[in-house]
Amino acid sequence: MTSNTTQMLTLALTKGRILKETLPLLARAGICPVEDIDSSRKLIFATNQENLRLLILRGSDVPTYVKLGAADIGVTGKDVLLEQGGEGLYEPLDLGIARCRLMTAGRIDRPDMGNRIRVASKFVNVARRYFAERGVHAEVIKLYGAMELAPNMGLADLIVDVVDTGNTLKANGLEPIELIAEVSSRLVVNKASMRSQHDAIQSLINALSEAVAESTACYDQPT
Ligand code: AMP
Repeated sequence: MTSNTTQMLTLALTKGRILKETLPLLARAGICPVEDIDSSRKLIFATNQENLRLLILRGSDVPTYVKLGAADIGVTGKDVLLEQGGEGLYEPLDLGIARCRLMTAGRIDRPDMGNRIRVASKFVNVARRYFAERGVHAEVIKLYGAMELAPNMGLADLIVDVVDTGNTLKANGLEPIELIAEVSSRLVVNKASMRSQHDAIQSLINALSEAVAESTACYDQPT
């Protein structure tokens, strides 16, 4: 990646599984943190590119940092963007990593449900929209984790959650029911930064989109 501006760019990353898949993509784009993120408790890291630094955040905080301009660019899941809304952000690139599905799920032995249900989720906006569009009267309860418990403890009829292998659902006597959205991690950009630091940001987007294309090509190759 090359940059013709000396202004610092701040890239907000999502910690956890998204970070693990983002770092190899950044490395392919020629961007490496100057110290090991995993073994550090720091939340801000310099990189080998003197004009680029990294923030390590919770995924749900990344859109806030980028919308409000505390970071210029971010990496966050489409699930988070669907829940929080992408207003004030450009979403120029699907990084194709941390793929999963936003789904409804319920007990395998659930009874037939009527038109009034209780749904537990951390994705309350997604859940409300989804059931409202289908004419189902859903009382949506906000939970912050362990959604799979709710149907088993009688707190909710269904949950809305991200599903990867489905093993967590299965281990808790639940099954996926309907697909709400395919999820992967996205690059998001602050609209004002896109204007004021256009060349540097565009060059980062180009480098990352080449890195994504290269990883996809490797993935597609017969072994
Ligand atoms: P699994 O058992 O493989 O279906 O994984 C399900 C659990 O892992 C869910 O409860 C999620 O919290 C989490 N999870 C799976 N994939 C992702 C992802 N791409 N992004 C965030 N969380 C995920």
